[in-house]
Order: sequence, then C-alpha cells, then structure tokens
Amino acid sequence: MEFNRSGANALMDITSRPELVFVRGQGSWLEDHNGKRYLDMIQGWAVNALGHSPQVVVDAICAQSKLVLNPSPGFYNAPAMRLAELITESSCFDTVFFANSGAEANEGAIKLARKWGRVHRQGAYKIITFEHSFHGRTLATMSASGKAGWDTMFAPQVDGFPKAILNDIESVRALVDDQTVAIMLEPVQGEAGVMPATQEFMNQLRELTHERNMLLIVDEVQTGMGRTGTLFAYEHFGIKPDIMTLGKGIGGGIPLAALCATEAASCFAHGEQGGTYNGNPVMTAAGVAVFETLTAPGFMETVNERAEQLSTGLLALSKKWGMNGERGLGLLRALKLDQHDGPAIVEAARNRNPNGLLLNSPRPELLRFMPALNVAADEIDLALSEVDAIITQVRG
Ligand SMILES: *Cc1c(COP(=O)(O)O)cnc(C)c1O
Repeated sequence: MEFNRSGANALMDITSRPELVFVRGQGSWLEDHNGKRYLDMIQGWAVNALGHSPQVVVDAICAQSKLVLNPSPGFYNAPAMRLAELITESSCFDTVFFANSGAEANEGAIKLARKWGRVHRQGAYKIITFEHSFHGRTLATMSASGKAGWDTMFAPQVDGFPKAILNDIESVRALVDDQTVAIMLEPVQGEAGVMPATQEFMNQLRELTHERNMLLIVDEVQTGMGRTGTLFAYEHFGIKPDIMTLGKGIGGGIPLAALCATEAASCFAHGEQGGTYNGNPVMTAAGVAVFETLTAPGFMETVNERAEQLSTGLLALSKKWGMNGERGLGLLRALKLDQHDGPAIVEAARNRNPNGLLLNSPRPELLRFMPALNVAADEIDLALSEVDAIITQVRG
C-alpha cells in the first residue's frame, strides 16, 4: 500500500510520527502498510487491555451496533447499566458516570470534588496534586498535571491545583488549608516513568484526608482495569478512596472512561454533569466484554505470572548491562537505563527486521512496558531477547 502523503499532511501536525500506517492487529501483533509485523509492548499506551482487536470486544461492538447505536444519554441503556453494576460490585464505589476519555473523567472528578466542597466544606475548592503527575490535556486537567512547562503553555491555568511531591507527606501537609477539598494522585505515576506511591504514603494520605474532611481521588486511568495485577491499583494499598477515574483499558481500545464515586461523594444535582456520548451503548458494551474477561476465573493470576516473568527478565537485562534495575506494578513496568538512549532504542526496535518491536521511552533514561494483559509467555520472552539484541546494536 502506498503511503498517503497528502492525507498525512492534512492531519494537524501535533506530534512527530514515523511514516507507517498500521492496517491490522491481532493480540500482541500489529501489521503496517508494507506487511511488516511488530510485537507491541505499548498497546496504545496501556489501552488495549486484551491486545489488538480481541474477538470478545469485536463481537460485543457488532452485536450492540445492530441493536441501537445511540438512544440518547437522557435515557437508560442496558450495557451502561450493566457495566456500572459490574464496576460498583467489584469496587468500593457506589455510582459511575461514563465519559469518553481519561481527561473528561478527571474533569468530572474535579467538578464533583468542587461541588462536594460547596455542599460540605463552605466552598473549599483546592485539589492538591503532584509534581510530574499526568491527568490529561484539557485546560483543567493540564492545570492539575505536574508536567514541566505545562503551567505556562496555555496560560492562564485553571486555579486551585497546588503541587506536592509524591511520597513526601510533609510536602502535602504544608499545602493543606481551609480551602483544600481533595488530594488527587495516580497510585503509580505513569507518564512520569512508572513511579509507584508507597504504602506508607497512601496510608498517610488517607489519614490526612479523613482528619481534615477532604476527599481522596485516585486517577486510575492508566493503573485501573487489571494493569497493575489487581483490578484496581488502590486495592494494593488496602485503602478506600472516595473517587476514582478509569480510562484506557476499560474500553479495550475504544473511547470509554468512567468517573466512580462513593455514595457520600456522589453529590451532583441534575444538570451539573453530562455529555452527548456518556454511557454510549456501543462503548459500554465493549466495556462489559473487557470487564467480564478480566474478572473471569484465572485471568488475573495469569497477568501476575506474566508480570513476574517480565520483571525477572528486565532485572536480568539490567544486571547484564549494568543498568539501574526495574520498577513497576503488574504489567506496567519500566527498565531504568544507565544512559539516556531510550529514544534511540525505541527507534532501533521499531526499525528492526524482519519483525519490529514497539517500545516506549517516557523519559530518556527509561523504557516503559505496557503489553496486553493477555500477552503470551513466549511473547514476553521474545520482547526481552529482542531488547537485549537492540541494546547490543545501539550501543555496539
Ligand atoms: C492517559 C491518562 C490520562 C488522560 O486520558 P485521555 O484518555 O488521554 O484523556 C489521564 N490520567 C492518566 C493517569 C493517564 O495515564
């Protein structure tokens, strides 16, 4: 297939893309317009929980699209009700609002916390977030994010997101005042390079928020839906947050996200939250298929076996090359390079023949791995041996 250059030029130029068009995918493999295959350790940035075009999701979308595409968010639809029920039955939350993206779910979380502050805390509205955090690309979620440079990029920012330092409770305490209504964090900072919150820090945040009558919000857009080896990452810490957002993996590759809240935190009045596509039945039908697969007996055990395998393999690579180890939870992991050659390794991996390997380097000294949750053992082994060969190639 010819590369469509005028089509490429017609797309708004918002990032540098390789001249590749991916035309089909199955499981852990993608195929480009030249017929070259790639082993995918990115999966749309931890989105395709069940790999590329999983049959259960394809079937759910086809079946639902023949029934009804869009009755209107002003009416109930069966898949949305079913998915909300599945999420609330499997978590500490009581109600769910479906959105189209992680950023939109986080906007909802921010609105809900501000509403709660108005009802219960005399208008307190500030939400403490963290340096290096990532919550999305809308104005409010960019303001909540702690990415370097984002404070001035589209100034002025949305007010009310003081930044603390992850795993440093004193930095949080120092920011709390009468106007602080919530603390919001990723249980494992994803875009920052797979930085997990510590158990002690999570306990301290939960204590502090209870003590000062504040909400604890977990952004599980990346860590939720089995990615870290439990259905939701907050379960690792044995705490119960008040609000959680989901995205990425929840739709298995189609645009779906969720804002989840406890009964006590669910305080929107009619008309305060909504959206044209919220709870769209095609998207939520896909979500039901993903959810039922992840929660089927044995599925999460296999995720944890693959995670162990990946972790052990990355540690061995680190040892062999004198690198700085690896970190992560479940199938969200990072190899800590000893040099800033992550981007060169990513490029060499993609260009490898006959098969390419898709990797991600969120920081120049890190390689991040986010395979499908149903990745096969021999695919993990292949990725590890390929990474070894690619490092030899890049550094040789
Ligand atoms: C990806 C991500 C988002 C944003 O999700 P979008 O669907 O891109 O809007 C928010 N929070 C975290 C932790 C993410 O990883």
